[in-house]
Amino acid sequence: MLGLMQNQPLLISSLIEFAARHHGDAEIVSRRVEGDIHRYTYREAARRSRQVAHALDALGLAFSDRVATLAWNGYRHFELYYGVSGSGRVLHTINPRLHPEQIAWIANHAEDQVLCFDMSFLPLVQAVHAKCATIKHYIALCDADKLPADTGIPGLQSYESWIGGQPGDYDWPTFDENTASSMCYTSGTTGHPKAALYSHRSSTLHAYAAALPDVMSVSARDAILPVVPMFHVNAWGIPYSAALTGAKLVFPGPAMDGKSVYELIEAEKVTYAAGVPTVWQMLLTHMKPGGLRFSTLRRTVIGGSACPPAMIQAFNDDYGVEVLHAWGMTEMSPLGTLCTLKNKHDSLSEEEKMKIRLKQGRAIYGVDMKIVDGAGKELPWDGKTYGDLMVKGPWIIREYYKGESDPLVDGWFPTGDVATINADGYMQITDRSKDVIKSGGEWISSIDIENIAVAHPAVLMAACIGMTHPKWDERPIIAVVKKPGMDVSREELLAFYEGKTAKWQIPDDVVFVDAIPLGATGKMLKTRLRELLKDYQLPG
Ligand code: ADP
Repeated sequence: MLGLMQNQPLLISSLIEFAARHHGDAEIVSRRVEGDIHRYTYREAARRSRQVAHALDALGLAFSDRVATLAWNGYRHFELYYGVSGSGRVLHTINPRLHPEQIAWIANHAEDQVLCFDMSFLPLVQAVHAKCATIKHYIALCDADKLPADTGIPGLQSYESWIGGQPGDYDWPTFDENTASSMCYTSGTTGHPKAALYSHRSSTLHAYAAALPDVMSVSARDAILPVVPMFHVNAWGIPYSAALTGAKLVFPGPAMDGKSVYELIEAEKVTYAAGVPTVWQMLLTHMKPGGLRFSTLRRTVIGGSACPPAMIQAFNDDYGVEVLHAWGMTEMSPLGTLCTLKNKHDSLSEEEKMKIRLKQGRAIYGVDMKIVDGAGKELPWDGKTYGDLMVKGPWIIREYYKGESDPLVDGWFPTGDVATINADGYMQITDRSKDVIKSGGEWISSIDIENIAVAHPAVLMAACIGMTHPKWDERPIIAVVKKPGMDVSREELLAFYEGKTAKWQIPDDVVFVDAIPLGATGKMLKTRLRELLKDYQLPG
């Protein structure tokens, strides 16, 4: 017997229509590429998303055709999120930090038909458009009068003239909720990038889950600043969960430096921000010298890489901002776990609480996880045993777009992360499996070693990698970037490890570098660091 409730497909268009109807006057504020601040409401965003849908119809785009973007976080990008997916096409957000060759490869692989780009990416588009065989239409996200006369890009038109004459109402089509809505390619640090193809159903369920109190806790009372980019995994789904709840949205545009982010947080009374540790590092570095304070910021979600304890402490102790440590990946839409404490942790000491906060957190309803050994045998949840982390759930990848092989193992997706899970279900990533350091048959967590280094007052950034060793197979070394104007010696830093970790886990050496190479999503690129240090010799 089937249930007798309405079978309404979960469609992305319903999110923006809900926001327009129930939170029509809630604001969306954007710092634009032009440098100024733009503000309007969900009501106007919905109207312009419908204009986008009409404009796509006028181009003759078919159902499921791909529309690519090269754009920062801003209101026009937000309108494309809804206009493209809502009308049944697939939004393909491209990471502009990728190598131009890779961008062209991705656009061809996805068979993009349209490319909408921010004017800051004009030189990039000029460099790659001849290689993008399938793109027929180029749209610059700007006013008509901001479009330079001779760009060399065939048929280029401005976004405002493209949507300007279109009606502001639109009958969003109803279709199968499993239809593809958007796609995102992984950074492809090894081999070609691979695409996760999200559906209306997976994105809507993920938006519901993200908004839960123990997850990202998104509310109509919040003003949210997603510094995490809309070009990577849909900015952790914030454009959807904000519409689902009616939260005010504040988009930083291209200005992600500490000063710009701080000023936006203050000016727009941001209560809630989300981003990767490198962005927050820039913010804290900006605030400290002048003794700046937050007047409204209450919570920040940090994920994408492990959040160092020093950062959790700085936000919490110095600024009264709660840090929610999150974990996920492109293939998971991206949220998998988030770290919030339970009532039973209230009585713990601050030190004990910190140990929990450093973990990547508990699974969100909708995400099943387990850890397994090399033979695929499930390992215990004792907080000590580590193994390969596997996940499954309705917003986790089944196959890559045009993928050649089945990525799943008995229905589970192998994340490539190594983790422990404790009896309460708190998961802790110890490493990417390829970054684990194997020393004398034991594993050393590079994240643990980095966390200690960045707790030193003179250290800005630290990356721990394993170096081949004749006796121990591998030994850890730590590459360190010092804070401007601060100093620390190799010996001082190694002494700083004493008592903070087991002796055999202390790095064999410290290498001071000017910068640590970062990948297209702001993560430390250890493959590149290893190349840079290929002639390095361990002491002795
Ligand atoms: P890409 O696939 O493009 O490298 P993702 O954003 O999908 O980028 O990266 C996912 C990976 O990032 C995870 O598998 C994990 O290794 C790492 N990661 C994400 N969040 C955290 C976190 N909070 N702590 C440690 N590692 C994290």
